[in-house]
Amino acid sequence: MQVSKTGVKTKCEMPMCKREAVYQFCLDNGDKRNSLNLCENCVKELYGQIGKILTPKSPKNMLNKKGVGVIDER
Ligand SMILES: [Zn+2]
Repeated sequence: MQVSKTGVKTKCEMPMCKREAVYQFCLDNGDKRNSLNLCENCVKELYGQIGKILTPKSPKNMLNKKGVGVIDER
């Protein structure tokens, strides 16, 4: 996956988002014309949401090892 700035004025491709796209996501073997264009706001939102799905365990484990994590203890 490659990320670059769109370089041209184009609309964010997130449904219902009408901002101007800033970033362009494209598979390594992909065609730049078939990229996913997203605005900065949606990229930030996605980053936060993806973080919830993909890294729920490792940060907690790291905290627990240090004895700082009390997230799961009730
Ligand atoms: Zn957007």
